[in-house]
Amino acid sequence: MVAKMKRYPSSVEKGSEKTLSVTWSDGQKADLDVVELRRACVCAHCVDEHTREQILKAEDVAETVRPIRVRNLGRYALMIDWTDGHSSSIYSWDALSRMSGGEG
Ligand SMILES: [Zn+2]
Repeated sequence: MVAKMKRYPSSVEKGSEKTLSVTWSDGQKADLDVVELRRACVCAHCVDEHTREQILKAEDVAETVRPIRVRNLGRYALMIDWTDGHSSSIYSWDALSRMSGGEG
């Protein structure tokens, strides 16, 4: 028996002015709000590693924030650098899939 393949982003590109357009391997397309994405960062600066408490507050993130660079990190996540100086935000494909409205 073969395990069901997890879906992965087959392409990630700039959508509208404020969205990142993700096409999933199963064909679903999702436009993710970049400000929401920035707020969802779970790096050690944004979320406490031990308590999992969110350090970053929604109001800390300006509506004008935009991704500068999106890179694939291995086979499980995307790494995004932002215009607000925050770099190396890591988004697992599972988290992105949930944000896209999928089951993750
Ligand atoms: Zn962060």
